[in-house]
Amino acid sequence: MWLHFDSDAVSMSETISAEASAQASGAAKQKREFNKLQKRLRRQVGNAVIDYGMIQEGDKVMVCLSGGKDSYTMLEILRSLQRNAPVSFSLVAVNLDQKQPGFPEHVLPEYLDGIGVDYHILERDTYSVVKEKTPEGKTTCALCSRLRRGSLYGFAEDIGATKVALGHHREDILETLFLNMFFGGTLKSMPPKLLSDDGKNIVIRPLAYCREADIAEFARQMQFPIIPCNLCGSQPNLQRQQVKEMLAEWEARHPGRLESMFKAVTNVAPSQLADRDLFDFEGLEAKQKHLRQTRIEALDLGAELDTD
Ligand code: SF4
Repeated sequence: MWLHFDSDAVSMSETISAEASAQASGAAKQKREFNKLQKRLRRQVGNAVIDYGMIQEGDKVMVCLSGGKDSYTMLEILRSLQRNAPVSFSLVAVNLDQKQPGFPEHVLPEYLDGIGVDYHILERDTYSVVKEKTPEGKTTCALCSRLRRGSLYGFAEDIGATKVALGHHREDILETLFLNMFFGGTLKSMPPKLLSDDGKNIVIRPLAYCREADIAEFARQMQFPIIPCNLCGSQPNLQRQQVKEMLAEWEARHPGRLESMFKAVTNVAPSQLADRDLFDFEGLEAKQKHLRQTRIEALDLGAELDTD
């Protein structure tokens, strides 16, 4: 009986220790994966910041924090880069409380107090304006974004922010590119760095090189207290949603396509497109004449040197 009991106990403790060690190795693997993800995001943000000269010595960067996964991730990665950056810059988080019904006002202050970041909550009732001005059945996002941008840009000036950081990522940039092509007849997107039309603000997009899936996974693992953007009750932006699905389908069928398309946005050949403002097509004959002349002169010079 004792013997039987003992062997059961031994096998039970072996099972428990096997489970514990499987759990420990699972947790270690998860931690390694998370570290890799964090490093990738840091590297991509760091590269974008350097490539476009986004942040300079003494900059005060206003991080626009909506409470979505992208802006939380942007703030977190900028904070971690700030610790080792070769230039010194400050960060201030700004949330625009648009007075949407049910907006959980306490969430962002609690989060920002918890991590010790300077912040402002800017209260503007853009919700009422959007509801009033948008015809029934139409999506409200375009006007809402415009009003939000106006409020944030104005506030950046008020607090002396030298840069306004927005959390758009690689997929946002590609979706905008196709939306502009499909519905606007223009080849343009969201640049990583931009001077606002009135020349008052420089806008930066530090997540420009980051994949949305990486950001979503990072936000999930960091357990950011996400605030949904649809509190306003708006229908989703259908055109953007369709383009998003189209891109996701392409990527699923041809992995790497999004990366290649994003590379194309950074590698434009104006002479191989058809914009007369970007390339002097009418001047090609003159250019040809000049090239011919230069070639003839070079040949003549070569002949002279040979006879010498
Ligand atoms: S979903 Fe609502 S809050 Fe978000 S951008 Fe659209 S209108 Fe604005």
